[in-house]
Amino acid sequence: LVPRLRPFTSTIFAEMTALAVRTGAVNLGQGFPDTDGPAGMLDAAKDALFGGANQYPPGPGRPELRAAIARHRARYGLEFDPDGEILVTTGATEAIAASLLALTEPGDEVLVIEPYYDSYAAAVAMAGATRRTVPLASNGGRFALDAEALRAAVTPRTRAILVNSPHNPTGTVFTRTELETIAAVCGQHDLIAITDEVYEHLVYDDAEHIPLATLPGMAERTVSISSAGKTFNCTGWKVGWVCARPELLGAVKAAKQFLTFVSGGPLQPAVAYALEHELSWVERLRTGLAGKRDRLSAGLAEAGFAVRPSAGTYFVCADVRPLGFADAAELAWQLPERIGVAAVPVNVFTDHPDEWKHVLRFAFCKRDEVLDEAIDRLHKLG
Ligand code: PMP
Ligand code: GLN
Repeated sequence: LVPRLRPFTSTIFAEMTALAVRTGAVNLGQGFPDTDGPAGMLDAAKDALFGGANQYPPGPGRPELRAAIARHRARYGLEFDPDGEILVTTGATEAIAASLLALTEPGDEVLVIEPYYDSYAAAVAMAGATRRTVPLASNGGRFALDAEALRAAVTPRTRAILVNSPHNPTGTVFTRTELETIAAVCGQHDLIAITDEVYEHLVYDDAEHIPLATLPGMAERTVSISSAGKTFNCTGWKVGWVCARPELLGAVKAAKQFLTFVSGGPLQPAVAYALEHELSWVERLRTGLAGKRDRLSAGLAEAGFAVRPSAGTYFVCADVRPLGFADAAELAWQLPERIGVAAVPVNVFTDHPDEWKHVLRFAFCKRDEVLDEAIDRLHKLG
């Protein structure tokens, strides 16, 4: 393995899920739902499979899916031409990697907000670029954008910034003010923004998902990425997409066509169907998840954790120090055996493991009885 990929031989999700399976632990580590997506979408996939949609779809994606993505983005007031401004990918993961491969050169620096989703660091490394992290800062318990840290991280080599909101692992949803800060830095230093919006529908209470591309001057310099996995409970389908102005989209398409060429033939019409017809199902998913967030947050607090507020995603973070533990990473590896619950240490998503070593991430995208069982077991820690 080449040196620049040596830090990336395995993922925390694979390792923690394997440990959960081995120990029979309740798996609140890897974020995936334990119920299926809307029946109409599953039917549409079956129809496509048996209806002959099993050969290569068109390079940019099937026309009905690109049209559905364009209409979905239009809900935010964003206009994208399905011909030339939308590309279907193998999940958001491929979209992120293709964007970095297409838009950054060795020597370029990419700003990554920390903690970061694990594929960002690997994708920046595959592109030969260099990551510079911008740590979120605690603001009354909420993990907030640190405007000073962001401005200080920019150098003459900075080419792009990766922005994930709603944010995995913290559950932070960036406010308009935070997004304005990012937009101002992008404008000032002529940066490309690559946005990861896979949790765009999963926002709770009065949080609102605001795509960065909707801010003044940002549509021209933003590569907007999302995916069906989290919106429609189909994380294994790996149908994602990129929306950007033709020059940026064309670049990402050039990289994507030699990574996978095309993606998910028979799943594309089903995702198109879901985007057109299942958003009320998604609204029920969202309100259900808000309740699950409350359920797990309350359970963690009762068990003695200091729970951080989560405004979106599948995740809630909790500090282990009130329970008398100094190292959440160490604890995470013991938890499955000790009490039968798996969680993920947040410091694996950072370049500053010591500063983040008190925090665990728990996934709440599970049936209530599964959450309740986990909460029962977590009480044994105190
Ligand atoms: N970005 C974030 C923030 C994620 O949590 C995930 C994981 N599910 C992805 C990207 C990957 O998305 P996909 O499965 O569509 O590749
Ligand atoms: N996105 C999910 C998480 O953060 C899982 C992704 C994966 O397994 N690679 O838990």
